[in-house]
Amino acid sequence: SMTLTVRQFACLSDNYGFLIRDEATGMVAAVDTPDAEAILAEIEASGWGRLDLILNTHWHPDHTGGNERLKAETGCEIVGPDEVRRAAPLDRVVVDGDVVMLGGTRFEVVLSPGHTLGHVVYRAVEDDLAFVGDVIFALGCGRLFEGSPEQMWDSLNRIAAWPETTTLYCAHEYTASNARFALSLDERPEMLAHAQAIFAARERGEPTVPTSVGVERRFNPFLRAADAAAFAARRAAKDDFKG
Ligand code: ZN
Ligand code: FE
Repeated sequence: SMTLTVRQFACLSDNYGFLIRDEATGMVAAVDTPDAEAILAEIEASGWGRLDLILNTHWHPDHTGGNERLKAETGCEIVGPDEVRRAAPLDRVVVDGDVVMLGGTRFEVVLSPGHTLGHVVYRAVEDDLAFVGDVIFALGCGRLFEGSPEQMWDSLNRIAAWPETTTLYCAHEYTASNARFALSLDERPEMLAHAQAIFAARERGEPTVPTSVGVERRFNPFLRAADAAAFAARRAAKDDFKG
């Protein structure tokens, strides 16, 4: 479809929640469940009046913590990678290449290991957007809790190969800190201008998510690494970076 509406809202300390609606059918999904209370409040505020589906990206509690309560209150179906079962209820296990429909909106499941081994992202090709969880952030990428640098490098490059126009909905607002790290590696004037726009947006209290494949190809220091070894060095440096 070309008729997906996205409502993005801040919750927990730095997560974003996403409530999405397929306008052709009125069906509603939550992408990850950082906070059941906040998601229920957003359903109320939206006037959408239902929750049909949860799409989990990975098992971490700030992505699955609301599954149980939302299922109990709405009867929604919960879809995600098998690893979600470590933390929360799950109805349907998805693997790389699977398709998940929300009414008329088609999501492709893309296995994207690195942050966790089973992490998936949900890409709506026709709508030119994706929900990328903790794989790629604006100017950043997820920490390597379970996977290898090579796995994360491959995951990032699969995303980077999508059209530049693709909108990327990241699960955290880490962009100001990521921009300080990017500036430590990249002295181009356009990098400085991009970072300054981010700092200004944050001072105004505005989100810097979503981003796009084109913006991240130009500025994300992890996508700009020369190869997997350079990526690994940058990821390790970011872990220690006091910006
Ligand atoms: Zn995570
Ligand atoms: Fe997270």
